[in-house]
Amino acid sequence: MDTTWLEVTLETTTPELDALCAKLTMNGATGLVIEDEEDFKNFLEQNRQYWDYVDEELLERMKGAARVKFYVTDDPDGQAQLRRWTAGIDAPCTTARLRENDWATSWQKYYKPLSVGGRLYIVPEWERGEPVPEGRTALYLNPGLTFGTGNHASTRLCLEWVEEFVRPGGTVLDLGCGSGILSVAGLLLGAESALGVDIDPKAVDVAYENAALNGLGRDRCTFLAGDILTDRSLKETLARDRWDLVLANIVADVIIPLSAHVEELLAPGGVFLCSGIIDTRSGEVEAALARNGLQVLGRKERDGWVALAARPGDGR
Ligand code: SAH
Repeated sequence: MDTTWLEVTLETTTPELDALCAKLTMNGATGLVIEDEEDFKNFLEQNRQYWDYVDEELLERMKGAARVKFYVTDDPDGQAQLRRWTAGIDAPCTTARLRENDWATSWQKYYKPLSVGGRLYIVPEWERGEPVPEGRTALYLNPGLTFGTGNHASTRLCLEWVEEFVRPGGTVLDLGCGSGILSVAGLLLGAESALGVDIDPKAVDVAYENAALNGLGRDRCTFLAGDILTDRSLKETLARDRWDLVLANIVADVIIPLSAHVEELLAPGGVFLCSGIIDTRSGEVEAALARNGLQVLGRKERDGWVALAARPGDGR
């Protein structure tokens, strides 16, 4: 039988938060999860360059919030632990029952297989074994805690274009690879090799795992961690090769400076696909591409997100 867990939530205010955590810790509590609107706002502010858009629902949920959560097992031991940990604490306390499975993987229920473009079928790993529609290629994916489930409009726009522009036997450079979804798609749709890069080191392992889920080994793909704008040795590594397809599903603030280096990364006849651009900023990105000698071949828009395809203006 699955273990049942109690999620315990204590409501407080931002100024009282530290004192509450200190009391809990003194009572022996471990595994505290703190939800604080102020922290959340600071986090958003400090990571501004990665966000053009924040989920309204999440903002709403965090409004005025200062709460501490922890988990105990739903049995006499856990109940005793709960009483010890909250002794002498008078903050309003609620408990909710969770199954271990729900707790670790509740987000999985939001991901269902998804047809993208004319050829791909994105299948969450835990749905493996379900039939794949005729004529489509399954791309198995476990995004874990990285970005790149295929559900996001900007990823879908990119995937459609990968299908259109990938060159059989060609090479793919996937900047901001996240879960590795675009690299894997490129390989499944005919590319010979792919290199993916992400600033988040977690992405490297996840991307290798996703490649492996699709039978793709390190002979076909490489994933590296690093900041594509500031990591000098990474930039040198990238500049050693030329790619038929350069992908960047990242925010406008990264794509704009990146566009100065795109031409030197493209093989003759290569195409640059960028996505993750919120519609109000697409003019700025188009201007940056033009300034750097890249000509826009196509523009697509979905749910307020824009993707652009470009190649060097001299038609190389
Ligand atoms: N390619 C995936 C993920 C896109 S999300 C998809 O299409 O779904 C954008 C990714 O870019 C994130 O994983 C983020 O960590 C990464 N990223 C953001 N800025 C970066 C930078 N300067 N250098 C490298 N990666 C970056």
